[in-house]
Amino acid sequence: MPRAGIVTVAGAPNVGKSTLLNRIVGEKLSIVSPKPQSTRDRIVGIRTHADVQMILLDTPGLLDPEYPLHEAMRATALAALREADVVLHLVDARHNEAASLENIAGLRQPLGAPVVLTINKSDLLSASERDRLRRTRPDAAFISALSGAGVDELLDRISAMLPTSPFLYPEDEISTQSVRFFVGELIRETALEQLADELPYSLACEIEEFRETESPVYIRAVLHVERESQKRIVIGAGGARVRDIGREARRKVEAFVGAPVYLDLWVKVLRNWRRNESALNRFGYHVPEERS
Ligand code: GDP
Ligand code: MG
Repeated sequence: MPRAGIVTVAGAPNVGKSTLLNRIVGEKLSIVSPKPQSTRDRIVGIRTHADVQMILLDTPGLLDPEYPLHEAMRATALAALREADVVLHLVDARHNEAASLENIAGLRQPLGAPVVLTINKSDLLSASERDRLRRTRPDAAFISALSGAGVDELLDRISAMLPTSPFLYPEDEISTQSVRFFVGELIRETALEQLADELPYSLACEIEEFRETESPVYIRAVLHVERESQKRIVIGAGGARVRDIGREARRKVEAFVGAPVYLDLWVKVLRNWRRNESALNRFGYHVPEERS
């Protein structure tokens, strides 16, 4: 019998979530269209391997202490936890975190799904440090998302925890809509990398046009910020910054779509979009009907 289920990855910023997800999903990235009223827009990838299918969900904003808890994002992250069949709690090997995920995330009820404590960046420990940590955390999985060490063992362990079920998605489903969504995420991620901490959550990326029949593929994308001052930051002196963002994002998008891309990147102010429900919906954040 095949197995299939949802694996939700939670962890503080910089513990290596994206690195791990990229490694797990790898080139087998397959995509589904984001649908309103579900957590599907948090799907960062699907890994179908032999008779096991993992749907990987992300939990942005859940364990970010800097983050002014935005109710729409937190609700999405909590939903991703609730829907999980297995939760990976990723921590950095160098930071000794003793608290449970429930405590850190401020959950009122324990999670229904089993939590696998996953200690990442174990390549940065000496052999003796690793041994000591293994003794204090016998249940933890030790991995290096960067080198891949321990990742196959982790995947085997998770696979055995998933329910027996037919696959939840076709093995190779790809739709234009979902490609647009991921391209938007790649551009937003690139901008965040290059802007360091200057305006993390004020940035949204919208794909206004996507002509995949052209060569190069034509993509017009808009980075929306909330204020003029932010727009100036993103554009940079003489437009240098937005050019750098565009160049790096184009490289990633080309690798993703597998074709040359012309990326037409704009920066616009959409005043206070984070407090505007229709803007939030437009950017794929779903405002919950009930506050939890
Ligand atoms: P996220 O914020 O949790 O998504 O973390 P990222 O995946 O963006 O990783 C943050 C930083 O940690 C990056 O510089 C990664 O290259 C680095 N990193 C991630 N995993 C490992 C690892 O296993 N070993 C080492 N040495 N560095 C890692
Ligand atoms: Mg990340």
